Amino acid sequence: MNMASPALDIARIRADFPILSRTVRNKPLVFLDSAASAQKPRAVIDAIRACYEAEYANIHRGVYWLSQHATERFEGAREKVRALLNARDSREIIFVRGATEGINLVAQSWGRHFLKPGDEVLITALEHHSNIVPWQMLRDEKGIVLKVAPVDDAGELIWPDFEALIGPRTKLIAVAQVANSIGTVLPVEQIVSLAKARGIVTLVDGCQAVPHMAVDVQALGADFYVFSGHKLYGPAGIGVLYGRAELLNAMPPWQGGGDMIRSVTFDKTEYADLPHKFEAGTPAIADAIGLGAAIDYVNGIGYAAIAAHEADLMAYAATRLNQVPDLRVIGTARRKSAVISFVLNGVHPHDIGTILDGEGICIRAGHHCAQPVMDRFEVPATVRASFGLYNTRAEVDALVAGLHKVAEIFA
Ligand code: PMP
Repeated sequence: MNMASPALDIARIRADFPILSRTVRNKPLVFLDSAASAQKPRAVIDAIRACYEAEYANIHRGVYWLSQHATERFEGAREKVRALLNARDSREIIFVRGATEGINLVAQSWGRHFLKPGDEVLITALEHHSNIVPWQMLRDEKGIVLKVAPVDDAGELIWPDFEALIGPRTKLIAVAQVANSIGTVLPVEQIVSLAKARGIVTLVDGCQAVPHMAVDVQALGADFYVFSGHKLYGPAGIGVLYGRAELLNAMPPWQGGGDMIRSVTFDKTEYADLPHKFEAGTPAIADAIGLGAAIDYVNGIGYAAIAAHEADLMAYAATRLNQVPDLRVIGTARRKSAVISFVLNGVHPHDIGTILDGEGICIRAGHHCAQPVMDRFEVPATVRASFGLYNTRAEVDALVAGLHKVAEIFA
């Protein structure tokens, strides 16, 4: 059916992603699970291959040319991340394994050092487990208090309740920019400016935002910002913690080892400057370079075109899914991004997932690492279709056809 997009040459883009031309179960692959992890364009695959084939050596410590070259490529990737986020300085960009590790770094370094028993961390009811559990661990260890701002039936933050939860002991507000489970875009600009006015530190989990919208951490004003490379069409195993230099400088390192020191004796160790202080051990060198290639790829298409294309897909999917009998969309916030979660009356999401899999359609069925969101909406699980820049209206049609098949089987 309709491959047309108002904004992108979608056929050309799809040709950039080798996996999209494969079949699954003798059906064309319909990949609607980019919120879990996005597919990789050839440019990223080639960058990783080129690194290992021609540019690879351990970085930072080598006196020889190849090591220096690999170091330049690695640090070049850091600069690409800096530019992507419009951070002031590339030393504010810490390479980590992913958003999960970034949040744990903040909890274990900043949180452990600066939070005292009774201090409060405020999150929302829409967080991924990775922005819940690290704070619970800190609660158990340090006696901090974890507060959770509720959402309404549409999946939107209830602003007066959110504001009311902020008190004199609130030391950190940690929120997702986009909820991975139901796609709500949270008002992070408003949240950060409120926090700043009250001297509260902020952490924004940008995992589901960076693939879809331009982010400017200076304009946003957040103290910490995290995302994962693998959702941005880059490799898994590499991600980013952005932190304002002032905070990162004041924080103790969280892992000790090579690369994060200036000098070591058995009596005393001096730590390296940013960003190396937080990057103990040999990093994911090729993956960082691959992330740099992913950033180039996304920039080559442009966020305006990506956002327009995905908004078109979201609107089209909402209309088409509405026509499926007994389907209920979970999460109807006014601002949503690239994620549609739903349930079908009387059919468990896992059964839907299995039937769709038979059609070559990849969707996610489950709690999406956000069990409290499922509890909030009183469902055990949802089916989640999520979009990337390579998806088409025809794939939405395939999903809808698959759902009709599900309905027939369970009729
Ligand atoms: N936060 C959000 C909003 C996410 O969607 C995810 C991944 N599903 C994470 C954090 C965790 O990312 P990762 O598993 O790559 O560390």
